[in-house]
Amino acid sequence: MTPPETPPGTPTGDQAYPAWAEPAPHATHQVTNQVPPLVRDVAADPALLEALRREGAAWAEDGLRELGIRAGSAQTQELARLANENSPVLRTHDTSGNRIDEVEFHPAWHELMATAVRHGLHAAPWLDDSPGAHVARAAGFYVWTQAEAGHGCPVSMTHAAVPALRHEPALADVFQPLLGSRRYDPGLRPPGGKAGLLAGMAMTEKQGGSDVRANTTQAVPAAEGYLLTGHKWFCSAPMSDLFLVLAQAPEGLTCFLLPRVLPDGTRNSMRLQRLKDKLGNRSNASAEVEYDAAFAWRVGEPGRGVATIIEMVNATRLDCVLGSAAAIRQACVTAAYYAGERRAFGARLADQPLMMSVLADLALEAEAATTLAMRLAAAADRAARGDAGEASLLRLALPAAKFWVCKRTPMVTAEALECLGGNGYVEESGMPRLYRESPLNSIWEGSGNVTALDVLRALARSPGSAEVLLAEIDLAAGGDRRLDEAAAGLRRELKEAADLDQHAGQQAARRLAGLLAVTLQAALLVRHAPAGVAGAFCASRIAAGQPAGPALPFGSLPPGLDTQAALERATVGIAG
Ligand SMILES: Cc1cc2nc3c(=O)[nH]c(=O)nc-3n(C[C@H](O)[C@H](O)[C@H](O)COP(=O)(O)OP(=O)(O)OC[C@H]3O[C@@H](n4cnc5c(N)ncnc54)[C@H](O)[C@@H]3O)c2cc1C
Repeated sequence: MTPPETPPGTPTGDQAYPAWAEPAPHATHQVTNQVPPLVRDVAADPALLEALRREGAAWAEDGLRELGIRAGSAQTQELARLANENSPVLRTHDTSGNRIDEVEFHPAWHELMATAVRHGLHAAPWLDDSPGAHVARAAGFYVWTQAEAGHGCPVSMTHAAVPALRHEPALADVFQPLLGSRRYDPGLRPPGGKAGLLAGMAMTEKQGGSDVRANTTQAVPAAEGYLLTGHKWFCSAPMSDLFLVLAQAPEGLTCFLLPRVLPDGTRNSMRLQRLKDKLGNRSNASAEVEYDAAFAWRVGEPGRGVATIIEMVNATRLDCVLGSAAAIRQACVTAAYYAGERRAFGARLADQPLMMSVLADLALEAEAATTLAMRLAAAADRAARGDAGEASLLRLALPAAKFWVCKRTPMVTAEALECLGGNGYVEESGMPRLYRESPLNSIWEGSGNVTALDVLRALARSPGSAEVLLAEIDLAAGGDRRLDEAAAGLRRELKEAADLDQHAGQQAARRLAGLLAVTLQAALLVRHAPAGVAGAFCASRIAAGQPAGPALPFGSLPPGLDTQAALERATVGIAG
């Protein structure tokens, strides 16, 4: 093409524009059948709200609805985009070459964090004696993580640090009020002088994360504490104020509390080596760290580090279930909304029989995941108040649910993404971010196999937990024949599993964990969900000889199911 003699926009003679730049007399096309971005009230979630009321936290509903509107707003979606597109940056040194070991976050990250802390989604419920405080916090976490999942990591770890910290009452007295404070106060300053604190966790080393007993970081007793020397291969949220760390003390593996800044204002010698370049979770920083005689206080008995930090691990495992249930719900709602607005072959996608089957199947998964997650949150709430039966239920149901719900999430997000066709593969839809995040909850706090093996450990060491879980399932007895048969089958499998040798037992662990989780989900739905939801779940997930089980892709539901209720509940507040 010959270049124009005058630059574009230059008036020539009495012409406003050169002839070649005249606007075309017609539009090339009109945009039709594209779906506007979804703005929604995230807390308009029937399974969530019903669980909130049922489990003793109806008092939190107004605050939850406020958070739900904020979570689904266009402004918050923009914050989430900015926080993920502007990943944290490691600043190892200042301009003079001094080490500073700081991570810089985009302002959007700080705004998301401030909202989470203001709503008490971190350690606030530990300061609240109201029954249901942990249920309310769980519901809030579930809602707000749908705004942006990455910053849920420090929020969750701060919540989870408290029960481990309570093994050392003197430290808990000082730091618990600050970990539960609703003031977000970022920046590296002595923890005692801040308005609010965040906590992280450092267990994983290069040679192994699952097998933490192989940790090599050494802890040497020193004045008023210990000096830690070694490394950690994954340490998320490295700008946190405090870290629970495992290290080898003279008595064996021990739990420590390591401050980033020492009480006298100097930096502790915790060096950030580099940040991980991660598949997803890109708003959050995960660092490799080195301790060079870093100061730490001991938490709990020397040599009992795993027993101490396991309290933190269990609380974060619950958040993995909540976070995955939230991702499943978010994926399902996004797909249902899109299908309700988009047309193909002369009809809405949502009215095409095969798409209805896919959406209904996703909706069933969301109902089951949310209902189970909230039941576990209620068990955690009551266990924290001394209910031994609920603690026993949690001991077995939590690893089973962590294994199962987290494993289902990548499958759900992939299927939901495809409901948006090519648009689902494009960043603007939000689905790629959800998809990249989806395997993470299964990896951390005990990867799939490790969590399934923990189910076996619970059965072996806390035999009462199986009875409590079966009793919970029995509360739904008589409600659905398929459930009764599945419960009887589960009893048989549990007995048979006890007779297996170690090799065969371990090979069966995933199957058993999945069976426990799905049967409990079915029982909870039979008791609490609309009949159509519970019936379709039982028919497709636990009925004997039913091929449409979890091994088949979503949308393979058996014929003749009443899926109306499931579909309606997936589109509450968003149906066009
Ligand atoms: C984004 C991100 C952030 C993280 N943040 C933190 C953090 O803040 N703090 C922290 O301490 N860690 C963190 N981690 C580490 C995480 O907890 C570990 O990656 C995880 O525990 C697994 O440990 P590993 O990577 O060493 O895998 P390995 O322990 O090597 O395990 C590899 C695989 O083998 C399986 N496996 C292990 N043992 C057995 C067995 N006996 N039988 C069968 N299979 C087995 C596991 O399930 C896994 O699939 C983070 C990880 C990621 C990805």
